[in-house]
Amino acid sequence: MADKLTKREQLYLEEIEAWKKASEIHADNAISQYKIASTGLEKIHFEKKRNEAILGQLNDGVIVFDGQHQIIIFNNQAENFFGMSATQALSQNFDNLMESFNPEILTYTRKQLLKNAQFQRHTLLNNKRYISCRLDIISIESDVYYLLLLEDVDDFLRLQQALKKEKKSLEKRVNNRTDELQKEIAKKEQAKQLAEKLSLTDMLTELPNRRAFLIELSRCISQSELQNDFTFSLLFIDLDGFKSINDTLGHYAGDVLLIEVSKRIQNAIRNLDVCARLGGDEFVILIENFSDEERITEIANTLLSSIAEAVQFNDTQQMNVSASIGIYLHQPQGKYFNSSSILTMADEAMYEAKQRGKNGYVVFDQGLFERMAKSNSLIQKLNLAFINKEFLVYFQPICDVNGKIIGAESLARWQHKGEMISPAEFIPLLEQRGQINTFTLFVIETVFLALLQNEHFPSVSINLSILQFYDENFIEYVDEMFMGLPELRKKIGFEITESLLHKDPKILIKGIKELRKRGFKVYIDDFGTGYSSFSYIRNFSADVVKIDREFVVDIENNPRNYLLLKGMVALLESMALDIVIEGVENEQQLTLIQAMSQQIKIQGYYFYRPMPFDEILELLVE
Ligand code: C2E
Ligand code: CA
Ligand code: CA
Repeated sequence: MADKLTKREQLYLEEIEAWKKASEIHADNAISQYKIASTGLEKIHFEKKRNEAILGQLNDGVIVFDGQHQIIIFNNQAENFFGMSATQALSQNFDNLMESFNPEILTYTRKQLLKNAQFQRHTLLNNKRYISCRLDIISIESDVYYLLLLEDVDDFLRLQQALKKEKKSLEKRVNNRTDELQKEIAKKEQAKQLAEKLSLTDMLTELPNRRAFLIELSRCISQSELQNDFTFSLLFIDLDGFKSINDTLGHYAGDVLLIEVSKRIQNAIRNLDVCARLGGDEFVILIENFSDEERITEIANTLLSSIAEAVQFNDTQQMNVSASIGIYLHQPQGKYFNSSSILTMADEAMYEAKQRGKNGYVVFDQGLFERMAKSNSLIQKLNLAFINKEFLVYFQPICDVNGKIIGAESLARWQHKGEMISPAEFIPLLEQRGQINTFTLFVIETVFLALLQNEHFPSVSINLSILQFYDENFIEYVDEMFMGLPELRKKIGFEITESLLHKDPKILIKGIKELRKRGFKVYIDDFGTGYSSFSYIRNFSADVVKIDREFVVDIENNPRNYLLLKGMVALLESMALDIVIEGVENEQQLTLIQAMSQQIKIQGYYFYRPMPFDEILELLVE
């Protein structure tokens, strides 16, 4: 027999032996099931690694023992809490472990075990740390297992005490200020009006800002749809060499330059043309009522020579920059474009002007369009996708445990040459290219319209990229969109993936707070794939937690996976969080989850796959 096994198989066999010793649950069965065929071996090997990886990531201690109190799972964090290795623990009986460690837990646990009841949260002092522990009894077929979850809540308690103190002093201050308040209300009203004005104005140049510009552009687009002979053009201006001014002379010099350029642009156009600063060294001009190429390029030439004139910085220093300009000319009765497609075309033409040596202009035309289409560059493909409106929003229903639709997640799709490109591929590209903000706004606007036009449309959650939180205008912009529509606002949730929470917790906590303050819901997405500590997510005070589908895979066959999911659900519920479980693919999984709790929400292929807007609408009408 030995000579028939390859070295690899031999290794796997040894590993199975080790695994078998460590966990009595499954090995015998598994071995006979998989008949030591090499594919079977791979599967066992894979499963073991996967479980270890999941358990190892948790910041909570997990201990599982069987009916004979033999320990079969003891993860990394349990090792920390108990100060012993898993190998030591696995050779022990649970009662011995407790006895040698802390008799207090033991008495409690035994009593509860005898009663065969669920163990409520219990906080105890252990090694000078507060550990909250919770025991669940789970039976699989006729066998009984116990799952003990241990959570370090020391930090949490300290935080609570600090908050209590803070609250008291806050109350005092509030009382003191009641008198002053009356006066301040009047002042605030003024401030609010000012803020409203400012939110459409770029603070540095006092030109209209991006938002104001988009409003104007949308107005032009609508008018061109209604009125056949209405036309307009857009000039996208980007300075050449601005960065080196900033780097060599400093930001103050950069600001002086931008202000001067904004004045020169205004001098070169009519009063009724709109000039705005999009951000950085990007300016746009919207010219209404003519799109005659000759006249527009004349304006472009005037702009180029005016911007290229030196700017006096101080008595001794001059600054020299030039500009590259991209031009979009509206074709009356042409194809319909939205504002992001038009801006993209002008931007692309500007980029082409840079490629051709800067200090010049390029008009976006069919030739440029075709060149983009032929190009292999992904950036150009993405730009084309905006222009051709290839981005779509799909909706995947979220159901209660009985399959009734109670919400949906919006999921982006890119339909490119008859093929669907996965968001997992193109979202990171949009992020790299700095286009994710524009893209997310497109998704939000699509969802907004869906809700506005169909009052029976359920709650919808929208995925956010972490980059959104660095855009100061983002939350305000969304807030404004839902202004005066409180019923719609209540239906919107924003999903933030858990694996990114640790990246910049400060800014995320602030952003989440701001969103919730404005009446939006916040979902923690893909829970369990990142720094999963149950106490950690408390800091983010979300409304809903979506457990990642990794934790659902194979729960119907693998007791460890099942126990883990059940433990997670119990803990999240005890924290009063709504739970969505993702990736439910078959009936056995659903039945197991139904038994855990009736409050859980389900999203997965078993009920529905993501679908186009029309299809979900049909389902909802039914
Ligand atoms: P996600 O937020 O975790 O979305 C859930 C993913 O799981 C979706 O993949 C969905 O189709 C898939 N899924 C749902 N049920 C099942 C199931 O039962 N089994 C399996 N195997 N898969 C299931 P999709 O649509 O490919 O999206 C992938 C990821 O791309 C999303 O993961 C999300 O992170 C990102 N994404 C999608 N749309 C957007 C968007 O508009 N903005 C941003 N920033 N990210 C997005
Ligand atoms: Ca999501
Ligand atoms: Ca997810």
